Amino acid sequence: MTTEKTITCIVCPIGCKIQVKIDGQKCDVVKGNKCKQGIDYAINEALNPKRVLTSSVLVDGGNWPLVSVKTSKTVPKGKIFSVLKEIKRKKVKAPVTSGEIIIKNVAGTKVDLIATKTVKAK
Ligand code: SF4
Repeated sequence: MTTEKTITCIVCPIGCKIQVKIDGQKCDVVKGNKCKQGIDYAINEALNPKRVLTSSVLVDGGNWPLVSVKTSKTVPKGKIFSVLKEIKRKKVKAPVTSGEIIIKNVAGTKVDLIATKTVKAK
């Protein structure tokens, strides 16, 4: 069964509304992209949407109770709940340095969770 969907391209600020036709694992761009980059974006977004996830992790003994974190790469949308569950369970000891790996291979995604802030020890 073929379905049609409109995807907003976020590759550049123009934000083209790209119309795609999806048939199982086949996807074609119908119209709306002003450049070729939009074709790859729309097809990936339609068939295998991914996101960079940002959140925070509890810090023990720090001058701040939380450290902000993000995934080092995009993770499949379907894995976001598992990633968030693992983040919620995690607690690190201060000090934490920005760029430090907080969870390696978070939720089996082959993507690391990294600190985006430095938290010093009390
Ligand atoms: S299709 Fe091209 S021009 Fe349009 S938003 Fe995407 S990158 Fe920008």
